[in-house]
Amino acid sequence: MGAEVTVIGAGFGGLTAAAVLAHNGVQVEVLEATGHLGGRAAFDRKDGFLVDYGIHTHRYAAQGPAAAAMREIGHEIEFAHVGEPQLWRGGSFVDLPSGVPQFLKAGFLSAGEKGAIIRNMMKLVLSSTTRKADVSLTDALSGLDRPEVNSMFKLLSGIGMVAPDLSNASAGVFALFLKRALRSKETVGYPVGGTSQVIEALSKRVESQGSVSLNSRVKSLDIERGKVTGIRVKEEVLASKSVVFAVPVQRLPELAGDGIGKALRDKCDALVPTAGISIDLCLSSNVSDIDGVIVTADPVTMGQFTSNIDPTTAPEGKQLATWYYPLPVETMDDREAVEAEEQKLKGIIEGMFPGTMDRVEWERILRLKIVDGFEPRPGQTSKDRPAVSVPGVENLFLAGDTVSADYTAGDVAFATGVEAARQVLDYLR
Ligand SMILES: Cc1cc2nc3c(=O)[nH]c(=O)nc-3n(C[C@H](O)[C@H](O)[C@H](O)COP(=O)(O)OP(=O)(O)OC[C@H]3O[C@@H](n4cnc5c(N)ncnc54)[C@H](O)[C@@H]3O)c2cc1C
Repeated sequence: MGAEVTVIGAGFGGLTAAAVLAHNGVQVEVLEATGHLGGRAAFDRKDGFLVDYGIHTHRYAAQGPAAAAMREIGHEIEFAHVGEPQLWRGGSFVDLPSGVPQFLKAGFLSAGEKGAIIRNMMKLVLSSTTRKADVSLTDALSGLDRPEVNSMFKLLSGIGMVAPDLSNASAGVFALFLKRALRSKETVGYPVGGTSQVIEALSKRVESQGSVSLNSRVKSLDIERGKVTGIRVKEEVLASKSVVFAVPVQRLPELAGDGIGKALRDKCDALVPTAGISIDLCLSSNVSDIDGVIVTADPVTMGQFTSNIDPTTAPEGKQLATWYYPLPVETMDDREAVEAEEQKLKGIIEGMFPGTMDRVEWERILRLKIVDGFEPRPGQTSKDRPAVSVPGVENLFLAGDTVSADYTAGDVAFATGVEAARQVLDYLR
């Protein structure tokens, strides 16, 4: 016999669902395949550095879904101040405009370019996000033949929703991002202590009313007559009243087999994630005092000196820098191409901050075939992805960043984690 509720996967989605259930008095067990918590948001401590798994920030800070999810368990995320985003342009940094007033002030744009950008932004903000869901930004925007206009939207879509390829970016999802960003006091928040603050608060809450079992890979689910009747892990078959599957849904068909319908299996198989390269550089001394996100336009890359935002992430006098370079998922299978892109990225960093590479005490390069669980492109928006409830299986619920919620990336994992917990509580009643 297992716990009252079993949650599979200890990433943001699974830990959120489990913590909210535990907070509501449910006895819960989390089964995690690896030896650590956090999934794609795991953190590492080494030589005095506290390193997230790549750049990890929360959109809309205290007004975003991560903060809302944490409030469900009584935890207020403590955010560090993040400075203005900086754009590397022609050998120096300029403030990256992110809203209408900043675009009006941007000295590097002509009046015609500013007009085209602001008109497009207003059009998107005033549009129906549902109707624009299946339209790409290439089709929704006008004036993209002007290089600066094109470049600005690639950057905004790149940092807003990790979709710098405008032909693969949903105008509806981007419009929703813009609307929320305009309403929010801050567009981005970095939790003090990085993802460790969030993961530790969630797991502590889970352990108050249940447990997390590491190195416990679920091999398959037994589904009979519309119910999960067994969870196969190691040599055991566990049984629970309800199960939350909080692993990217691309893995669901393999684990659930014919127990779920063909339509859902096909949906899960077809979902394309975002991908790319992430580099952490642990530096022996400081190379920059910039405390905002730093972006380059061609190619679109983004980075930050995390220890300038939150000094607890590096020993005194040392510096932690992290860069992300989004690439199409197909590129990640081509080893030589990926190595060439890594060199390009290092060249870009060295170009902006000469001497950086000489100061590297240690580095970590992640070649990632899945960064966010889905690319926010037409055909992969909220309405197209699997819902939290599974058709035909009454006690199985889905959570995590591949499930349906009107956000992107980690925000989807937090929102669906909370929603899955709510639906499980209803089911148990
Ligand atoms: C480099 C990088 C940077 C990112 N930056 C940001 C950011 O700035 N902001 C943002 O919002 N999002 C960001 N993301 C995305 C964010 O990390 C993810 O959206 C989020 O962590 C997904 O959480 P999840 O719980 O859905 O999935 P995961 O984190 O993938 O969790 C799933 C868990 O299930 C476990 N598992 C898999 N199979 C099994 C099995 N058979 N049995 C038991 N357990 C299993 C896995 O080991 C894993 O721990 C970033 C991602 C990466 C990789």
